[in-house]
Amino acid sequence: MPKTAQTFQAPKGFHDILPQDQKYWERLRKVVKTLAAEYGFKRIDPPIAEDSGLFLKTLGLTSDVVEKQTFTFKTKGGDSLTLRPEGTAGVMRAYIEHGLSVLPQPLKLYYFGPMFRYEQPQAGRYRQFYQFGFEVIGEADPVIDAQLLKVFYGVYSELGIKGLTAQINSIGCKVCRPQYRSLLKDYYRNKVGKLCADCRRRFKENPLRLLDCKDEKCQLFKNQAPHAVDHLCQECHDHFKSVLEFLDELELPYALNPFLVRGLDYYTKTVFEIWSDSAQTQAAALGAGGRFDDFIEVLGGKSTPAVGAAGGAERTINLMKAQEIKVPSAGVRPKVFLIQLGDAAKKKSLVLFEEFRKAGLAPAEAFSKQSIKAQLRIADKMGAQISLILGQKEVMDGNIILREMTSGVQEIIPLEKILSEVKKRLKK
Ligand code: AMP
Repeated sequence: MPKTAQTFQAPKGFHDILPQDQKYWERLRKVVKTLAAEYGFKRIDPPIAEDSGLFLKTLGLTSDVVEKQTFTFKTKGGDSLTLRPEGTAGVMRAYIEHGLSVLPQPLKLYYFGPMFRYEQPQAGRYRQFYQFGFEVIGEADPVIDAQLLKVFYGVYSELGIKGLTAQINSIGCKVCRPQYRSLLKDYYRNKVGKLCADCRRRFKENPLRLLDCKDEKCQLFKNQAPHAVDHLCQECHDHFKSVLEFLDELELPYALNPFLVRGLDYYTKTVFEIWSDSAQTQAAALGAGGRFDDFIEVLGGKSTPAVGAAGGAERTINLMKAQEIKVPSAGVRPKVFLIQLGDAAKKKSLVLFEEFRKAGLAPAEAFSKQSIKAQLRIADKMGAQISLILGQKEVMDGNIILREMTSGVQEIIPLEKILSEVKKRLKK
């Protein structure tokens, strides 16, 4: 390539999913899809861009995501759109817009698709990443929280990920949270000067997130901070107690984490994160979720309770690789290989390929190769059971050579009989 030629790379934080990784993605998609069906979730695919106001309204003006992490742009028509940083807002917007509350409730929905956040890329943190998510809308019963956590946790355990735990907490509701917020502020008031810059801002705007800070000096203070679970109203207390009882019943391994608050502002009551004790994920959760009973009302819908969870696909797949979890190769391995020699044979092979493909036996081929040796080598490497060899002579005679790859035994078969002959042999 000339030195002056411009080369391109994927944009910072955006990444390719290469063919060799597709097997992991297929496996994850399949597990999500199967579990979703078993637990009665229907798929929904909201668009990747929404009216910017949707995220401003729902994620909260003070959450990190809206503050600094959105990809927002103006369309030529002058509308402000935002690439979705998460899945819930779009799903709830669709729920209201399409009147899905008329369907039997609770309504269980799931999605799998790309999300966009303008973050500082690092291991396991991208600007475009995929999330799978489950939402249950229209039911406040704690059994729903427990079952949602069960299906979500099930994705990771079904994949074979080791060392899993669910961390769980309750952050109360609009009745008890304001009181807890002021308690937390009182506790932090004379410590503000010693906190990191982010936490000094959080103190004013979103004190619950003080508990979430990863900065070492801030960590020291949080250990003595009051816990939300000790200040829940009766309803939230009973709700949380029941969620834990259901989880006990399901034998789902959970750990109470009084500092778990979640980055997004819209959560109420139950919040949880899934962690693995592998070194690769010690710094970040695999997935997370919780209850958000006020969300739909904030969006202008009828007050409707809901609970959901979202998991990051890249982080899950990176962990599958680190834990050396075996997954079957993507795609089907061809059993038949088509070899051609000379122009007439190449033409005939193209047609034969179509015949076999339509019969559900798509053969592998190397039409651009000329030598029989090279083609046989490829067939061998692919592990084909049968090779079909078509040369100039065979085309003239209306025949084809069938070669059993393991024994190397070859037979001449009339072309019109070859499909049924191959089928017969593959059945054996
Ligand atoms: P959140 O929507 O922030 O609760 O994140 C839920 C999950 O999505 C996290 O546990 C991660 O697995 C994944 N996730 C969030 N942000 C990113 C990112 N920037 N890059 C990759 N995965 C992410």
